[in-house]
Parts: sequence; C-alpha cells; structure tokens
Amino acid sequence: MGIKKCSFCKISSSDEIELCPVCGINKSKTNKNELEKDEIKRNYFCRAIRVVAILLTLLGAFKIYLLPHFLQSNINVIIIQLLLGILQIITGIGLYKYKYWSYYMAIPLYVILFLLSLTYPFTLTSIGIQSIIWLLPLYYIANSKSRKFFSRKYAN
Ligand SMILES: [Zn+2]
Repeated sequence: MGIKKCSFCKISSSDEIELCPVCGINKSKTNKNELEKDEIKRNYFCRAIRVVAILLTLLGAFKIYLLPHFLQSNINVIIIQLLLGILQIITGIGLYKYKYWSYYMAIPLYVILFLLSLTYPFTLTSIGIQSIIWLLPLYYIANSKSRKFFSRKYAN
C-alpha cells in the first residue's frame, strides 16, 4: 500500500482510494486537460484556498515580526496583535491542508481582521478596499464548492 499525491489539491492519500478525499478528482488524472467542467472549478478553488492560506500565514508572521515596533503602545494592543498573528499562522497552515477545523477558525478570524482594518473616519473607498482584502478570501473558503473540500464531501 502506497501514498499518492493528488495533482490538483496536493493532498496525499492511500493509493487504494481512487478519488482524492479532498477534491474528489480521480487520482489517475494528472493534467488539467483531463478535467471535466466541474472538476476545473474545483481545481480553481483548491488553488485559491492554497494562495489564501499562504497569504494568511505570511501576514500572521509579519504581524509578529513587526511587534517590537509597537512596544511603546498599550500592552493590550500588543497581546491582541500577538494572538491574532498566532491564530493567522495556525489557521493558514490548517487551510493549506484543507482541515475542517481551520474552516471554522477562518470565518470568525477574517471577520475580526476585516473589522479591525476599518479606521475612523469610515469612507466608502476604505471600506471597499478592506472588504476586498479580507472578505474575498472568505468567499474562496466558504463558497459551496470549497466547503465540501473541508468536510470531505466529494470523497463520498
Ligand atoms: Zn485532490
């Protein structure tokens, strides 16, 4: 019994299973040209989630890296930024592996990051830009196709 990596979502599983447990694409397919219409969409969302996961992790690491610059500010701010940075890294790693728990962490986390990104005075432009930055990833994670990666619905 061996392990085979899916060419599309990059998740490894036993080669005895024909369909990838995450994206549900037959593991014998390795090229995009072999994909059917729905599988092309699934592949698109798989990739989008990996990009979102990497960005979330990097932003979390960057937030922690920048913390020494905030040392003069309120201790509560530092603690909150540190916790958020750690949560971002953990959630990002979970998302990269399409873990079910990371789906439930990502939704409140992105809403919090969105709300914290809004600065007074509120203008439509700034709200619009922050929505794209923080709510677009949420769309890639929580749409009906992506949700099934996390709950392993395609495998059954
Ligand atoms: Zn897959």
